[in-house]
Amino acid sequence: MSKIITKNSQHTHKLGFKLAKKINKGDILAFIGDLGAGKTTLIQGLAKGLEIKEKITSPTFVWLKAYPFKKGKGYLYHFDFYRLNSKQDFNINEFQEYFYDTDSISVIEWANKIKKYLPKNTKFIRLNYLDKNKRGINFDKKIKGL
Ligand code: ADP
Ligand code: MG
Repeated sequence: MSKIITKNSQHTHKLGFKLAKKINKGDILAFIGDLGAGKTTLIQGLAKGLEIKEKITSPTFVWLKAYPFKKGKGYLYHFDFYRLNSKQDFNINEFQEYFYDTDSISVIEWANKIKKYLPKNTKFIRLNYLDKNKRGINFDKKIKGL
């Protein structure tokens, strides 16, 4: 496991940028952490590292936004399940085609809400609010050079 403490939001952004070099197409990254923990900031850095020029904002009224890669085919699929509650109709089958798209990368905010449906190879990143500027960011597997 890799554990990193970031000291401001630029630091978290930069960590995401570096993370982009360590992941592969077909990867599914599940982000778990409370509101304000830095999930979107980390994903914005990751998107920059993937050379996505569009501004990444959390999908709010949809579960998913797709950003095409500049080079080659494939997308960054950005999911946010903040608004998902247990009373809602939810059909995971709608999302399987994205998770199993081997040309693309899926990043999932509030992944704890759909954890039981996620593929086995999902990589988990847990974020904790430590204080006003500090965030603890834990990767389930050690990632060299972050
Ligand atoms: P989430 O998507 O987990 O709700 P965001 O990334 O949207 O979180 O928000 C994080 C907020 O916390 C931003 O306003 C950001 O500027 C602030 N912040 C302060 N310190 C940090 C840090 N070390 N890492 C990330 N965000 C930080
Ligand atoms: Mg967010």
